[in-house]
Amino acid sequence: ESFSNWQRARKLKASYQKKVANKHKDYLHKLTTHLVRQYDVIAIEDLKVKNLQKNHCLAKAIANASWSMFRQMLEYKCERYGKELIVVNPKNTSRICSKCGFNSGAKPLEIREWTCSNCQVHHDRDINAAVNILHQAMPNGQELAVVNS
Ligand SMILES: [Zn+2]
Repeated sequence: ESFSNWQRARKLKASYQKKVANKHKDYLHKLTTHLVRQYDVIAIEDLKVKNLQKNHCLAKAIANASWSMFRQMLEYKCERYGKELIVVNPKNTSRICSKCGFNSGAKPLEIREWTCSNCQVHHDRDINAAVNILHQAMPNGQELAVVNS
């Protein structure tokens, strides 16, 4: 009796986890299809997922798996739709001011906004990094569009 209860509980847990994973995958599919349809050129950071996966924190492991899936989907969808995917070196993208280029060093992840000590421009951490990624991808200054998803 208690064994079958345990089995039932285990089955429920597995089906719940599968449901969450499917929902998550579905979201990534919608997001990547939207991006590839909307934009001709997409730039992403070449994050070293393998190194990060050694991390034992579950949330980070999931985030890494999501990133890999997101990138794979972008890669094959860009190819399918004839769009360009540019992968840039992630070095300093969150340290450099996208306005003046000043490198103010590493900032802990909990710092979501900061002000450049050189030019005094106030930055949202993610948008500043996204602009830096675009600058690297398109150094000749094509029109930039930043998607904040
Ligand atoms: Zn600056």
